[in-house]
Amino acid sequence: MKILVANLGSTSFKYRLYDLGDPHEPMLARGAVDRIGASKSKVSYSSGKGKAEDEVPVADHGEAVRLCLQQLTDPTLGVISSAEEVAAIGFKAVHAKGISGVRRVDDRLLSAMEEFNDVTPAHNPPYVRAMRMLADRFPEMPLVAAFETGFHATIPDRNRRYAVPNDWATDHGVLRWGFHGASHRYIAERSAQVLNRPGLRVISCHLGGSSSLCAIKDGKSVATSMGMSPQSGLFHNNRVGDFDPFALPAVLRATGMSLEQALDVLATKSGLLGICGKNDLRDVEQAADAGDSNAQLALEMFVSSIRHYLGAYLVELGDTDAIIFTAGIGENSPRIRAMVCQDLGAFGILLNSELNETGSGERKISSADSKVEVWVMPTNEEIIVARQARDLLSGTL
Ligand code: ADP
Repeated sequence: MKILVANLGSTSFKYRLYDLGDPHEPMLARGAVDRIGASKSKVSYSSGKGKAEDEVPVADHGEAVRLCLQQLTDPTLGVISSAEEVAAIGFKAVHAKGISGVRRVDDRLLSAMEEFNDVTPAHNPPYVRAMRMLADRFPEMPLVAAFETGFHATIPDRNRRYAVPNDWATDHGVLRWGFHGASHRYIAERSAQVLNRPGLRVISCHLGGSSSLCAIKDGKSVATSMGMSPQSGLFHNNRVGDFDPFALPAVLRATGMSLEQALDVLATKSGLLGICGKNDLRDVEQAADAGDSNAQLALEMFVSSIRHYLGAYLVELGDTDAIIFTAGIGENSPRIRAMVCQDLGAFGILLNSELNETGSGERKISSADSKVEVWVMPTNEEIIVARQARDLLSGTL
């Protein structure tokens, strides 16, 4: 069964095609359309047969998918003979009121996502717009949404509930839903294969443009740092992270901002960007090296917030087997990994600095006498979405 996994941005469409009929689950092709709606969109494609790049106008996401199917069936570089070979398009969807897990996309699901537009303002609106268009344009193609919240359905109430009146939770869905579910699920499954111990306890550190930690016991999420929305938990490149809502009235009164304006500042102008004016961690590291004290502070605050949840999850799990770093920062910043693990020998965490600073790809970076193993594992959210779409279609979910 061949599954197309789509990653939608407001003006971008990226995809990968997997063959899940093959036990090695190969990625057959990948491609991207950037700057959708502009006078010239950048279109790229690669498969085992070669690569292609082009600049053509692509009006909307429906047109981008049509182009993608054309590339996949191209007589020279294509990997399938007809679009009917694609069994489904799988999407990594973020949040919907009253719906989680893996579902076929229909009107009810899209309306439920729209109900949480203001909870996930950066994610839901462009996804809903594009999914609605694809459902209209390709009515024969099954569309499957794999919600980021799904992996966290196993979190016990003691870690899931906020201390608010019960009806906020039961009637309005005010809970710690958790996100980055595809990535944390990948780490749960991959670490179980690699470490191969019964009842494995791992702390997955997904550190990227947005970041979260997840405590995983025997393959199941038991706590995670993001809550009702992906703005919470650790702070992110431009989003605030944990914040006291009672600061808002003081800011609104002092600045004359509306609630919407203040929420926009918290969701788009905070995090690393708010602290030091840069939202890419590479730029923050470079500025800190050049003596920018705000950039240095941003690094220290980021690491402190990671260690805050790391400490909580070492206690939550009791006897942790491994800490696993993943995503853009987790996989690529030896400095952040070293700062996170600094002076944690008392907790059985000893990093090998040479292993931390050299090598690439999946590897162990702790020293031989570290009781808790420390690993870098490149995440693969797309293969998780592809497997979930397959399992939904074949009724084995
Ligand atoms: P997302 O999918 O959430 O947008 P990624 O997982 O791709 O994000 O991570 C993006 C982040 O990873 C950016 O903040 C970027 O600076 C950081 N990053 C990528 N490469 C490096 C590197 N070599 N050193 C430090 N940070 C890096």
